[in-house]
Amino acid sequence: MSMHDQINLRLPGPTPLPPSVLAAMARPMIDHRGPEYAALQAGILKGLRTFFQTEHDVLLFSASGTGGLEAAIVNVLSPGDRVLAVSIGVFGERFARIAEAYGANVTRLEIPWGKATGPEELAAALSVDPPYDAVLLTANETSTGVLQDIPSLIAALKAAPSGAPVVLVDAISALGAVDLPMDSLGIDLLVTGSQKVWMAPPGLTMIGVSAKAWAYNARARMPRFYFDFVRQRDAQSKGQDSFTPAVSSLFGLHEGLNLLNAEGLQAVIQRHQEVARLTQAGLAAMGFTLFADEPHRSPTVTAALPPPGLDAKALVVYAREHERLVLGGGQDRLAGKIIRVGHMGWVEPEQISKTLASLERCLNGLTIPAGAGRPS
Ligand SMILES: *Cc1c(COP(=O)(O)O)cnc(C)c1O
Repeated sequence: MSMHDQINLRLPGPTPLPPSVLAAMARPMIDHRGPEYAALQAGILKGLRTFFQTEHDVLLFSASGTGGLEAAIVNVLSPGDRVLAVSIGVFGERFARIAEAYGANVTRLEIPWGKATGPEELAAALSVDPPYDAVLLTANETSTGVLQDIPSLIAALKAAPSGAPVVLVDAISALGAVDLPMDSLGIDLLVTGSQKVWMAPPGLTMIGVSAKAWAYNARARMPRFYFDFVRQRDAQSKGQDSFTPAVSSLFGLHEGLNLLNAEGLQAVIQRHQEVARLTQAGLAAMGFTLFADEPHRSPTVTAALPPPGLDAKALVVYAREHERLVLGGGQDRLAGKIIRVGHMGWVEPEQISKTLASLERCLNGLTIPAGAGRPS
């Protein structure tokens, strides 16, 4: 693997794309109701099932990841349903707001940013005023660089005396790089997005739907049209999409999945752990403070506070202008306070070394040497 791009795009999505993915996206259009499309869709669904580790339906919608979260909510809930939204950052809060926008009765379990949710905290929140119809979880909080321990959280849900609610997981920046076996864990709705781990462009959201989620769907009364699961399942059973899908993005996703499946799930997971370790160690060695709690650091994105005296926003601007290194900044209350380095998808240690070397030069360029007497 070599990085041909001039720009070192180190965002937590979109990510750099392999040449074969870019080439696939340049293919001529096809009939989205014809046999070529049916074959493309079948190939994608087969590839996705390996990473979702599911025998259940995987639905494809042409939308950003947020569209997938909205689809998940409106297809299993009714206005007034009681939802426990576990929020550990920007994306957990977004999931909660979508549920509220459609009239769910949302209770938040808010965890300090930079930390993960403990299973006992979740069990305690569930027991305060049971029962809940649904629980919303974020697998990997992209705004803080925290990876939750989803298996332990689901175990706490299953053990709830009030009965297990339906479990919706935003795994948009986790799935593919993290072992999240949907069926054996008992995740009911598992949502991801094409521009994160999948070596694919933005434009698609992919949602795993369990049997329990279908049972909820049968009585869910939240309004929905474009994102209707039943219509999409029926269309997919004929090798089609409900409407006109983002064909070029699907070409890219198909090739991304070919590459990921050739590498293999375990190897992809290990590669992400390795690049994460290198990123964390390199930033710490340069004087950054890693934002996420030690045992919960994300394999796909690292958030860090710059060394004392250095402005995070100035660093992001300097890196872009002087190194063609494109970093993520902080969101919401972390705006201007942290940088985020994306390391998901098509990334190997080589790209991390390059990134760290660029950052080192940025620090040197931005730091006033002692006694240099910069004019004020
Ligand atoms: C990127 C991301 C989203 C939002 O995806 P969009 O494609 O920007 O709508 C939601 N949740 C998480 C955890 C993400 O990383």
